[in-house]
Amino acid sequence: METLEGVTRMRLVGGNLALDFINTRTGPPVGSPDDDVLTGYPELLAWSVYGGALSEPEAEALRRLSHDDPAGSQAAFARSLRIRDDLDGVFRAVAADRSPDASVLARLRDDEADALGHARLDQGRTFEWTWRDDRTLARPLRPVVHAAVQLLTTGALDRIKGCGGCRFLFHDESKNRSRRWCSMDDCGTSEKMRRYVAARRTRATS
Ligand SMILES: [Zn+2]
Repeated sequence: METLEGVTRMRLVGGNLALDFINTRTGPPVGSPDDDVLTGYPELLAWSVYGGALSEPEAEALRRLSHDDPAGSQAAFARSLRIRDDLDGVFRAVAADRSPDASVLARLRDDEADALGHARLDQGRTFEWTWRDDRTLARPLRPVVHAAVQLLTTGALDRIKGCGGCRFLFHDESKNRSRRWCSMDDCGTSEKMRRYVAARRTRATS
């Protein structure tokens, strides 16, 4: 499926659902993003399955629902992009050791209240919030918002970092908190290559 291919182009390197959702846009570490895989509600559903926010049967049910309600899907999609901007602002500030904007945090609280208002408590090894009964177009973003709040309230904030080579954010789970790149295969490799070329140039001129 063309949609899914575009979406799965993005690697899941954030280590957290909310950070992976922010990483649906690519670009340099600072400045504007240069690409975005979320181009409409169908892509949002495809990404949600890929990122682990929705099961395939849940996505299929929402696909049918969105066919019957194009205006509602458009509104749900627009809200998803607004939430992504908010999460981007909050986590980019945290990664840079700055305080997030108070008005954005207030919206995040409202989004979390809305998410929990549609959740149910399911018992597994511990109790956890699930959205299994939620059959609304806003369903895909609810676990994303909740993951963001969980990370902010219970995570180690100094492990939230921005890649040195691109705009991806990630949760650094390395033992000595030394991770600098979204992925060694992408930004890590290009940095190694850059250093190698620089070192060779230094040797050549000395
Ligand atoms: Zn990167």
